[in-house]
Amino acid sequence: MRLPSKNGRTDEEKSIKQIRYAIDQGVNYLDTAIAYMNEPLIGKALQDGYREKVKIATKLPPWNVKTKEDIENIFKVQLNNLKIEYIDYYMLHSLNAANWNKMVELDILTFLDKIKTAGKIKNTGFSFHGDKETFKEIVDSYNWDFCMIQYNYLDEETQAGPAGLKYASKKGLGIIVMEPCRGGNLTQTVPPEIQKIWDKSKVKRTPAEWALRWVLNHPEVTCVLSGMNKKKHIKENLKIAAKTLPNSLTEDELDIIGKVRDKYRTLMKTGCTGCGYCMPCPCSIDIAKCFEIYDSANIFPTNKIETQIRYAMGLSVIHGKIAYASNCTKCGRCERQCPQELPIIDLLNDVSNNMEGFITKIFPFIFKTYLCFNKYQTKRKARKICRK
Ligand code: SF4
Ligand code: SF4
Repeated sequence: MRLPSKNGRTDEEKSIKQIRYAIDQGVNYLDTAIAYMNEPLIGKALQDGYREKVKIATKLPPWNVKTKEDIENIFKVQLNNLKIEYIDYYMLHSLNAANWNKMVELDILTFLDKIKTAGKIKNTGFSFHGDKETFKEIVDSYNWDFCMIQYNYLDEETQAGPAGLKYASKKGLGIIVMEPCRGGNLTQTVPPEIQKIWDKSKVKRTPAEWALRWVLNHPEVTCVLSGMNKKKHIKENLKIAAKTLPNSLTEDELDIIGKVRDKYRTLMKTGCTGCGYCMPCPCSIDIAKCFEIYDSANIFPTNKIETQIRYAMGLSVIHGKIAYASNCTKCGRCERQCPQELPIIDLLNDVSNNMEGFITKIFPFIFKTYLCFNKYQTKRKARKICRK
């Protein structure tokens, strides 16, 4: 994700140059997904001997499959897109309770066994954006080789959280961390209150270095993914990765990071820590996600359209069904469970007033139409591959 772009489209020439530069400098893992729409570009970058130097990870999108045939078709297209014989790390993309149940109904584990035995994939895993209980359930359901979780110092407690990280690691899974810099939030626009805290530290580091070092400090972490679209990002990340060891942050350094986290939390409107104890909600609202997106929009402002698209993506498309704040019937069940004693009903009302609008209403429909078109194209492509 986040490859360099030109005139609103991925800059293919520049992207291939950067990917190859990164591999030449020692990067040995490339993460993609059919949903990122750049597998064919990665396939081109892997030509000229680059495939042998790097491990490839890609993902199956549960929201884009209805039948076992869809799964087979997508997999065929992915191999063809990447122009490779096998995939090193194959994942079920963005699992949460709804996506996981759907995958189980489609007997996905038998499919994974089949393609692994056939040598078409080397390692099986899943990327995760659900709640803690679902994470544990998924980890226990199969002999996974690895998982991918969102983990950064600000969202430490959300989704799988530290307990999930430790649990999966103890079970022998490799842990790949995504969003170490929260999609660039923690590095691009640093609020002055936060910068003041960083400035007090004896050791001077960029916000990216603090964020990456915090993740790499965990001995359970196998690999950290960071979206890079400038050569200077690649150089900086390589430098950080080369010199950072697990358990290398001092007490003082961890204290500074803790202060930055606390300050970010005071800048948040909701005070939600993302623990997930308030869920499941009988109206299917992803309460923690609603608050996470709302808080992000307030601390790291973007334009209204982008904010609404992010909200719609996070709470309808990826979630499997519409989980908007406005679904709340005010039953009060969640408030009794919240350890922070947050006025969840009032906060959801704020979220709904500030985040929902015309775009969040039409987005699920537009995305559904896009998925139908995409599915049709995948089917055609898969048929063509079979004929060849
Ligand atoms: S009060 Fe609203 S958000 Fe909370 S459990 Fe009831 S419906 Fe869900
Ligand atoms: S609203 Fe409360 S219980 Fe729910 S995720 Fe946030 S802090 Fe946890």
